[in-house]
Amino acid sequence: KESWAMMFQRQHMDPDGPSSNSNYCNQMMRRQLMTERQCKPVNTFIHEPLVDVQAICLQGNIICKNGKPNCHKSSSSMKITDCRVKSSSEYPFCDYETSHKERHIIVVCGGNPYVPVHFHASV
Ligand code: 5GP
Repeated sequence: KESWAMMFQRQHMDPDGPSSNSNYCNQMMRRQLMTERQCKPVNTFIHEPLVDVQAICLQGNIICKNGKPNCHKSSSSMKITDCRVKSSSEYPFCDYETSHKERHIIVVCGGNPYVPVHFHASV
């Protein structure tokens, strides 16, 4: 069974990317299995080494939007790609807008070892 930590890596880690083309989200959302049962509406990919993303769990501890205490904000900004389904998109033909950004990211950490298990936000 896929653990939360493995699911985080599948949905959010693309350390060697992005391949610079406007189809990035359309390709990656499908390849990483986020268009199987519905078009996942919003998803962020992170283009930084896994160790640097895991290290966020040791950085700035903050309260999550849902009031839980286990959110962590990266101390540096990171290369990310924001994927957002277009309003014209119709399942199963998921069509995404791709925007490359540099932002601090907030992840939820959990487990032992204490690693990223959810993507919370970019700020
Ligand atoms: P909007 O910008 O449409 O108001 O809200 C989008 C929300 O999705 C924001 O709260 C943002 O933090 C969140 N978000 C961005 N990327 C991801 C992601 O990969 N997974 C989840 N679950 N939420 C995300």
